[in-house]
Amino acid sequence: MNVPLLDLHPQMSLFRDQIVEAVTSVIDSTRYILGSEVSRFEDEVAAYCGTGFGVGVSSGTDALLASLMALGIGPGDLVLTTPYTFFATMGSILRVGARPVFADIDPETMNIDPGHVERILAGQGGDRQRIRAMVPVHLFGQCADMGRLLELADRYGIPIIEDAAQAIGAQYPVVEEGTVTWKRAGAMGALGCFSFFPSKNLGGIGDGGMVVTSDPELDRILRSCRNHGAEPKYYHSRIGGNFRLDPVQAVVLSVKLPHLEKWHRARRHNAGLYREFFDQAGLTDNPVVLPREAYRGIDGAAEVNYHIYNQFVIRVPDRDRLRSFLQENSIGCEIYYPLCLHQQACLASLGYDRQSFPVAEQAARETLALPIYPELEQEQIAYVVDKISEFY
Ligand SMILES: *Cc1c(COP(=O)(O)O)cnc(C)c1O
Repeated sequence: MNVPLLDLHPQMSLFRDQIVEAVTSVIDSTRYILGSEVSRFEDEVAAYCGTGFGVGVSSGTDALLASLMALGIGPGDLVLTTPYTFFATMGSILRVGARPVFADIDPETMNIDPGHVERILAGQGGDRQRIRAMVPVHLFGQCADMGRLLELADRYGIPIIEDAAQAIGAQYPVVEEGTVTWKRAGAMGALGCFSFFPSKNLGGIGDGGMVVTSDPELDRILRSCRNHGAEPKYYHSRIGGNFRLDPVQAVVLSVKLPHLEKWHRARRHNAGLYREFFDQAGLTDNPVVLPREAYRGIDGAAEVNYHIYNQFVIRVPDRDRLRSFLQENSIGCEIYYPLCLHQQACLASLGYDRQSFPVAEQAARETLALPIYPELEQEQIAYVVDKISEFY
C-alpha cells in the first residue's frame, strides 16, 4: 500500500471545475493585481477569524515580514520567538535587521514555553529593554499557550505577532472577564500571519498569505507596507516591499475556504484513528509519544485546544531509522524540523550556535510527521500503524 504524506489530487478533482472557472474569470478580466477578488477574500478570512481586517500578501513569510515592518521593528531591536519552527519565523526577523531572542519550548506541545518567556522578560539584562515584539508559532496546527503569553505581552507592553502559518482555524480558549471565549489563531495578538502554501490546511495553487488584525491603524500601515510603503500611490513615507496577493490565488482560496472546517474535522478524525490504532498496538507512550492536545484548567473546567492537525507529529526513539523503514514501505513521512533555528549555519557568526535549548534540541532528534490529510483512508492509517508496530 502506498501512503503519501500529502495528496492534493482528491481536493483538486472535487473543485477543479469551480477553480478553473474562477481562474478563467480573472484571466479574462485582465485585472491581475489586487482588485475586488482580493478584497473579497480578505473580508472572508477576516470574518472566519473574527478579526476586523485581513490584508492579502504574497506568502506566509511576507506576512511575517510586513507585520514586523508595520510595527516599525528594525536594526537594534530584539524579537522573542521559538527556536523550533520553520525558518521563515526567524528569517523575517533577521531580514528587517532585528535579532531573535529564543525561549525554549514546552515538551508537551512543542510550542514556546511561557515560563521561559517570563524569565527572559523579567530578567534585568540590558537586552530586555530592546525586546520589541514576540512571535509565538502555533506549531503543527495547535495554538501556543496564548493565555499566558497575552498576559505577559500586556504586562511588559510587547505586541504579539502570531505565526499562524500552520494554524488557520485553530481555536484557543481565552478568558475574558471570567468567561471563556474561543478565539481563532491569528485573532489574539496584535497581528496574525497565515500562509496559503499548498501544504497548509488552506492551500492555494502557488504562494500566498494574509495578515489579520483588528486594529484599523495597523491595517492601514500593512496595506501600505505590502505595496512598497506607498500611501498614497508614489508617496513613500516608509519602505515596504512588493508583498501583494495575486487575485488568481484569492479566487482559488475563496472556492476552498467554505470547506475548511470540514477538512479540519477530517484531520481531527484521522488523528483520533491514529490514537485508537496506536493504543490497540500497545505502542502509545512507549515508544511512540503521540501529539498532545493542551488542556487548560479554567474555573475548574478543562478546555482543550482545538488542534487542526496541519501535521500529525509523533516522537520516537530511533527516529531516523524508523523514517527510512517507513519510506522503504512507501509511507510518506517528514522531519519537522531536523535542526533548531539557533543551530542553523547562517547564524554561526552571531554566536547563537553556542546557546542551548535542550527541549527544542531533543524535539529535533525525535519528531516525525505522519500522513494526516483529510482524504486519507482508514486502511491507510491502519497500515502506517502496522508498519510502525512491525519496526518496533
Ligand atoms: C509555512 C510557514 C511559514 C511560511 O509560509 P510561506 O507561505 O511558505 O512563506 C512561516 N512559518 C511557519 C511556521 C510555517 O509553517
